[in-house]
Amino acid sequence: MIFTLPPLPYATDALEPVMSQETIEYHYGKHLQTYVDNLNRLTEGTPYSDLTLEQIILTATGPVFNNAAQVWNHTFFFNTLSPTPEKMPSDLEFAITRDFGSVEEFKVRFKKAATDIFGSGWAWLAQDNAGTLHIIQESNAGNPMRAGYKPLMTIDVWEHAYYIDYRNRRAEFIEKCWGLIDWKKVAGRMHEDILIAHIMDMAEVRTDGTVSETIVVTVDKKDPVEEKDMDRYVCITCGWVYDPAEGDPESGIPAGTPFKDIPEEWLCPACGVGKEYFEKER
Ligand code: MN
Repeated sequence: MIFTLPPLPYATDALEPVMSQETIEYHYGKHLQTYVDNLNRLTEGTPYSDLTLEQIILTATGPVFNNAAQVWNHTFFFNTLSPTPEKMPSDLEFAITRDFGSVEEFKVRFKKAATDIFGSGWAWLAQDNAGTLHIIQESNAGNPMRAGYKPLMTIDVWEHAYYIDYRNRRAEFIEKCWGLIDWKKVAGRMHEDILIAHIMDMAEVRTDGTVSETIVVTVDKKDPVEEKDMDRYVCITCGWVYDPAEGDPESGIPAGTPFKDIPEEWLCPACGVGKEYFEKER
């Protein structure tokens, strides 16, 4: 099979100002084209040339896998974005609320997962065979279909995705991406049986041997313990502890304020990072 550059479903300047025309021209026009060219060069005259992109991703390793997955991932990413994105359909909102608590909580956790990926990679919203949604971090060209998940949405966190427009500010890039995600497309990718209850232990999926050692997959499981209003939260960058009993009066947070009720714009009084860098104290 000769792989070709997939069409970009909008003009190169259509995603401005979130993604500049220069970024798209490099990201789509140069990086993705290079992955397509490399894949053709690596597969020509080999058994891989008879396989589909998905079949190669599920079976190949090394450079063949890397370039095939990067072609698939970028095609999926660019087709998830839209200059005129549709809002979230009710079935997807139901599933996200069921599995993450709320759409806002999902966005906080996804942004944190995407920001925290060390080096190059992809953050994914994916669905398991039981219908449950998961936030999955993948390094390099990783794709959660290798571990049996159905990809629903992704954000590219390779530096080439944001460095022209955001320099080193990955978290800001991710936040801006929310304005381009076409949630109707994301919802359309869900398994039809999303209402099936949680019947699968994700640990079994993670240990069934289908995950290549070269791919780092971490599954962000929903905390089975209900959030308690008086739980203390720790800043993962500096260790400062938010105690609801004390609040943060100097920043206008009165004593008795649960962590979840602190405004999103609040910053760690010790080191200045945002709320998404806090984790519940264990
Ligand atoms: Mn990319």
